[in-house]
Amino acid sequence: MKIHALTTGAVRVKHSFLFPTPGVRRQLDLFLPGPFSDPVPIHCWAIEHAGVLRLVDTGETAAARDVPFARMEVTEEQELPAAIADAGLDIADVSEVVLTHAHGDHIDGLVHVRGRVLINDAELRVARSPMSRLMRGVLRQPLPPGFAPEPFVLDGGPFGAFPRSRTLSDDGRIVAVGTPGHTLGHVSVICVEDSGRHVMLAGDLTDSLEQLHARRADAVGPDPEVHGATLETVLAHCARHPTVYLPSHDPVSAARLAAGAIVEVHRTSDREDTALRMPAGSR
Ligand SMILES: [Zn+2]
Repeated sequence: MKIHALTTGAVRVKHSFLFPTPGVRRQLDLFLPGPFSDPVPIHCWAIEHAGVLRLVDTGETAAARDVPFARMEVTEEQELPAAIADAGLDIADVSEVVLTHAHGDHIDGLVHVRGRVLINDAELRVARSPMSRLMRGVLRQPLPPGFAPEPFVLDGGPFGAFPRSRTLSDDGRIVAVGTPGHTLGHVSVICVEDSGRHVMLAGDLTDSLEQLHARRADAVGPDPEVHGATLETVLAHCARHPTVYLPSHDPVSAARLAAGAIVEVHRTSDREDTALRMPAGSR
């Protein structure tokens, strides 16, 4: 199995997006003036395994419009076809795409892909709801033309600490797990590497590893309690299985993938500390 980090440009996000104020200002602040971050990457992922080339998400395109809390920095030369060519792969060889969730910077690159596109049934239902249509209209974020992914259900039982899963590869080494929070139908994709280590392609479950350690629900999710519970589940999974945790917008995700850096969860009697461990010889 070989996993590649693909980069389809960058995005700057508002500080209140990364560090939301709890309570009523959590979502309100997104629409008020405020400082923006440095550019962070818009990653998606290619997985070569058992003769199949899969993508997890498809990145953003140059046509994307800014929203009040995110400024896109994507050129046509950075879109999926070039990003995948940079990894030495051919977009024509992609036979399956799995979407973590239906936000533009994860699905807009679908315009470049032929082949099967999968999405969690619950995420597709929300994406087609009147409220989502309204928000896409207000924010001028249309779904990509021809958006018609095939829904799947997380009916495969538990996987590690995750109560709901769905196997994607025939051998069970690529698995979608339910990670509600950022959106209620959000999934992450866990790849069991040849070494047995888990690589968790976490979409927008968090923006960074730091946010996971801090157990900080984000500013856009519908229910911070659901989000917080999922973050606890991820940490429980990391405590059981060596796991490389890779959110789509973490500036350090690509380096963590290259280094095989796992999340380490220390448990003590009255508190839990988390730290990043780099394997010997990797820097
Ligand atoms: Zn998102």
